[in-house]
Amino acid sequence: MKKEYEDLLEQAKIDLPANKKMLKHLKKKNIDTLFQKYHEKVFEKIDCLDCANCCITTGPMLVDRDITRISKSLRIKPAVFEANYLRRDEDGDWVFKTMPCPFLGSDNYCLIYDVRPKACREYPHTDSKNMYKLFDITLTNSTICPAVALILEEIRVINPIKIKNEKRLDEYGGE
Ligand code: SF4
Ligand code: SF4
Repeated sequence: MKKEYEDLLEQAKIDLPANKKMLKHLKKKNIDTLFQKYHEKVFEKIDCLDCANCCITTGPMLVDRDITRISKSLRIKPAVFEANYLRRDEDGDWVFKTMPCPFLGSDNYCLIYDVRPKACREYPHTDSKNMYKLFDITLTNSTICPAVALILEEIRVINPIKIKNEKRLDEYGGE
């Protein structure tokens, strides 16, 4: 991973309490628009091919549709795919047996990109609807994904945010 991205993750660990406070004070109705804006802005700067940290450390949960689609593309039976690549986690969900993900190429490209699990397509979920329901996972992801770290940093510190709670956000600007 780029040194710059590692620094973002280190800073996000330090900023966890401030980010938690800031998220708590965001107005519900503005949240999705706010995150969408910074998600797009940040992913213009962050290149996943210079990172791959989610594929190295976290990995997705796979649902039946993912298993059917991927095994079809690999031309193997779903049961064989499950036996070779998957295990059940503590919640009973399918996850990859080993991490880094077995489908992560040495150049950080995903070897099954076109058929990758839905959870991989959606990660890091910062352009989701009802972001206020995802605050806990977003805080966790800010220590895994440099893009999330930067999105929270941008929302918290860098940009003057022209929403109703602007003053309240400014209180956290120096932290
Ligand atoms: S989604 Fe985040 S953690 Fe995953 S490769 Fe992209 S920047 Fe890195
Ligand atoms: S399937 Fe592809 S995108 Fe998903 S974790 Fe593996 S390498 Fe990353």
